[in-house]
Amino acid sequence: MSKKLQAIRGMNDCLPAETPIWQMVETVLRRVASNYGFAEIRMPIVESTALFKRSIGEVTDIVEKEMYTFDDRNGDSLTLRPEGTACCVRAANQHGLLYNQEQRFWYMGPMFRHERPQKGRYRQFHQFGLEAFGIATPDIDAEIISLTARLWRELGINEFVTLELNSLGSNEERANYRDALVIFLTEREEQLDDESKRRMLTNPLRVLDSKNPQVQEALVDAPKLNEYFGEESKEHFAQVCLRLDAAGIKYVINDRLVRGLDYYNRTVFEWVTSSLGAQGTICAGGRYDGLVEQLGGKATPGFGFALGIERLILMITSLDKVKNIRPQVDAYFIMLGAEAELKGNQLAEQWRDTVLDCRLQSHCGGGSMKKQMKRADKSGAQIALILGENEINEQQVTVKYLRGQQEQQSLSFDQVPSLLASLI
Ligand code: ATP
Ligand code: MG
Repeated sequence: MSKKLQAIRGMNDCLPAETPIWQMVETVLRRVASNYGFAEIRMPIVESTALFKRSIGEVTDIVEKEMYTFDDRNGDSLTLRPEGTACCVRAANQHGLLYNQEQRFWYMGPMFRHERPQKGRYRQFHQFGLEAFGIATPDIDAEIISLTARLWRELGINEFVTLELNSLGSNEERANYRDALVIFLTEREEQLDDESKRRMLTNPLRVLDSKNPQVQEALVDAPKLNEYFGEESKEHFAQVCLRLDAAGIKYVINDRLVRGLDYYNRTVFEWVTSSLGAQGTICAGGRYDGLVEQLGGKATPGFGFALGIERLILMITSLDKVKNIRPQVDAYFIMLGAEAELKGNQLAEQWRDTVLDCRLQSHCGGGSMKKQMKRADKSGAQIALILGENEINEQQVTVKYLRGQQEQQSLSFDQVPSLLASLI
């Protein structure tokens, strides 16, 4: 026998046993996004490599080490998208959707990063993201953060997540800070690890984000970014905080939060949890007022976030918050004998016409009552509908309740749709 082929490491199948929870989560995400006036946008999975280099930044983990980049048959460098914001900006620019307009978009789909696979970290993973364009005021920052808070409430995990908030100021303020930080880091170079030494030269703010406790210790007296803010940046952040306070959304200000993508300015945030081990961030985002222009569009402010659907699902299942999951099958139709199969298929089609959302599975492959009942039970259906010779003569089906104690009953064919409707 030849060797079985396997999926690529870090790229998972989502099997039928898991798809109901994915669908439940996706339904909530879609609905909440539209509750706030966001419309769906779908972008290609492959983009030109330059898009990510120019947006995420050349000296970021994603671009330096994590991208799936290859030359296509024409010799063009392409990349499997590692995130959605750059793609969304590219699409919106290309189709002229940003010119003097406000836009609110959401997207959902697979992203690719060549990282070490572990719980909550995969090479193909799925993000839901949302972007608002054309609004420079702090009200949209607070509104989008409120939207994320609503998601956690609706998914039942709000008690297990914490909002971390920071401001990165303007590009100019950050550049001034960067100079001061480099001076500070240079004086303590021997306390830094190799990664941080390298970052100090390429992207010093990322040193603040180091997970190494020794580096963190060296940073205790580091200059603070917010000391370099002008009035506008201070006021913007104060307004975001004020609005979150008014909305009753709790947050922790984390002045080390800098994010791993270079396009952010002013407000940045992350929702973190302690229930997922090392992969503690489930959602992250912020403001990116320079990105549209950087990618060739007219200067347009932007604010957005992305969340990792796998991490969300891991949380929901591990905290036992799975709810509203409908079984794959509501009713299982048992047909005994050739005549019943013909008549049964006609009836099943009529019932599906009438009760659009019903999940009625007809038995295929014949067999005894015992065999068919076993299948009915395994299907997860609430009821079995049985059609045999007697039932055909009486123009009825027998209804057996598969969960609970209810007595079996007979129903005329035209009473069946209302029973099916009651199962949904
Ligand atoms: P991390 O610090 O965990 O590497 P990140 O800062 O690289 O996350 P973002 O680029 O901000 O992540 O992506 C937003 C969200 O997408 C993350 O908060 C996380 O939930 C999810 N995510 C990112 N990378 C992965 C991955 N490799 N596998 C699964 N989910 C991921
Ligand atoms: Mg990462």
